[in-house]
Amino acid sequence: MLIALKESMIEGESVKVEQLPNEFIKATPVMNTLMHHGYEAYFVGGSVRDLIMGKKSHDVDIATSAYPAEVQEIFPKTFDLGIQHGTVLVLANDDQYEITTFRTESTYQDYRRPDHVTFVRSLKEDLKRRDFKMNALAMNIDGEVIDLFAGIDDIKHRTISAVGVAKERFFEDALRMMRAVRFASQLDFKIEQDTFAAIIEHHQLLRKISIERIQVELLKMFAGKNPQRGLRYFIDSSCYQSCPQMIDKKEALDYLCKHLTKGIRESQTWLLLCVLFDFNEKQARRFLQQWKCSNAVIQLVVPSIHLFKKRLNQSLTSFDMYQLGMDRLALIESCLFVFDVVRDKHIKEKYEQLPIHKIQDLAINGSDILMDLHLQQGRWLGDFLKETQEKVVNEQWPNQRIFLLEKAKEYFENYK
Ligand code: ATP
Ligand code: MG
Repeated sequence: MLIALKESMIEGESVKVEQLPNEFIKATPVMNTLMHHGYEAYFVGGSVRDLIMGKKSHDVDIATSAYPAEVQEIFPKTFDLGIQHGTVLVLANDDQYEITTFRTESTYQDYRRPDHVTFVRSLKEDLKRRDFKMNALAMNIDGEVIDLFAGIDDIKHRTISAVGVAKERFFEDALRMMRAVRFASQLDFKIEQDTFAAIIEHHQLLRKISIERIQVELLKMFAGKNPQRGLRYFIDSSCYQSCPQMIDKKEALDYLCKHLTKGIRESQTWLLLCVLFDFNEKQARRFLQQWKCSNAVIQLVVPSIHLFKKRLNQSLTSFDMYQLGMDRLALIESCLFVFDVVRDKHIKEKYEQLPIHKIQDLAINGSDILMDLHLQQGRWLGDFLKETQEKVVNEQWPNQRIFLLEKAKEYFENYK
């Protein structure tokens, strides 16, 4: 729980973290430089939240009252990471720091991105535009936490609530609804009642959000500490109805929610969804493409679907394993727990023991056959090589050159 923050450190509104972890200390010289030039500088957002929870953060975000051009002037080595959003990368002490100018985001007209960002000098204004109270915390280099929206209270009660009026915040940026669901899983927090009511009421706004951004949150939800909790919120809020090809999939999602006892990775998520949605290969491909999955994910998942279904009822044959390859095989085994099927702990050894693992492992290849036997190229050759792989994998034929050349000749002579 609140490891960094003991009850005794809380005196009224002022809260102090006594011992800052290294990743924060490392950034203090950069913040000091900003302060020496008369600007404010704070740690903000998720890293402060994680620190208060006693969790290690993967990145430390710094916010400042200095405008981007001013940051660039102060530090000799900087890199523009998106000045229009106020973020400058500062290279200092052999490290790099993302420094973002305090800003407000105004006049959202399309439910997704601010029409324009206005840089401001006030920390409060910056914290006000943040999504949830737990994420609207700031901390100075002395470890003093600035908690203007009762974010610490939310962390203590393991609660996610919007800063300000939830509905308005979701109208500004509908992705925040998915972020709430994602954080519920990642942090194992509940979503506060009014915030959740607003998600239920406005989930349709998600349709305005780019699928790439929704995908990021969905995958973080599935990979989280308590995916059952996040997925329950995703279903109960009806957010799933506003996501591509999920509108009629409540039953499947309910099943997954009941059986998802641990977080899952990207490829596991997509394979399980495709299998539970009962998609054939063509439908699965369309689904994954609509979600803008990478080709690598599509190539891993789509060919795994039908053998996953087979594996639920029986073991796979050597040739099934050969066709899948080790990555897909491992993926399939890693998803079996959702269906209460015990995974095969020896699958890697079994795979490694196959006589061959790819067509190039055969003792002959196409041009060998044509040259040695003076035969003509044609469809027969592809068909023969297919059959040869199966026979060799099944140990019906030895993987020997002379033997296989003999078989090729026979095959050619009998071919239609
Ligand atoms: P993590 O990095 O662990 O996923 P995080 O809280 O750092 O969690 P980020 O997406 O990195 O989340 O965002 C950093 C901070 O920026 C958040 O803590 C929050 O204060 C703010 N933020 C990010 N996205 C939004 C948004 N859509 N609306 C409002 N504030 C946001
Ligand atoms: Mg972050």
